[in-house]
Amino acid sequence: MTTERTLSIIKPDATRRNLTGKVNAHLEAAGLRIVAQKRLWLSRAQAEAFYAVHRDRPFFNDLVKFMTSGPVVAQVLEGPNAVAKNREVMGATNPANAAPGTIRKDFAESIEANSVHGSDSLDNAKDEISFFFARTEIVG
Ligand code: GDP
Repeated sequence: MTTERTLSIIKPDATRRNLTGKVNAHLEAAGLRIVAQKRLWLSRAQAEAFYAVHRDRPFFNDLVKFMTSGPVVAQVLEGPNAVAKNREVMGATNPANAAPGTIRKDFAESIEANSVHGSDSLDNAKDEISFFFARTEIVG
């Protein structure tokens, strides 16, 4: 298996409920190492840029509003097949469809306020990691 890095974001619904540690425990139990982490409050421009791929989706404005409604925790996760492994531990986008034991099943409030973001491909992971972190801030 290849060691990969992926970008994770703990979303405002989870930071509001003080769940950062519980989310991190799920990630670590799945074999992912948190090799960079920072808490920040996204500006509207940052959220729009990060989710630019969703610009034409009907929920884009709501998503930007939600992602700027409170602090987030951006993280770089490292491990074997980290991109797919993180998607697995996150669970389905809609928590109603998420498998037992996944972060979204355990913590998500709705299809929008679904507690975590995770890169969906290795290419996107590279772009998303560099959106938030300098190379010197990632310590494997
Ligand atoms: P993900 O890769 O599982 O996060 O899902 P997507 O890339 O499809 O969507 C990005 C994010 O937009 C999701 O994590 C949700 O926060 C939000 N989202 C997705 N679908 C919907 C929807 O139908 N309505 C609303 N309000 N938000 C959505």
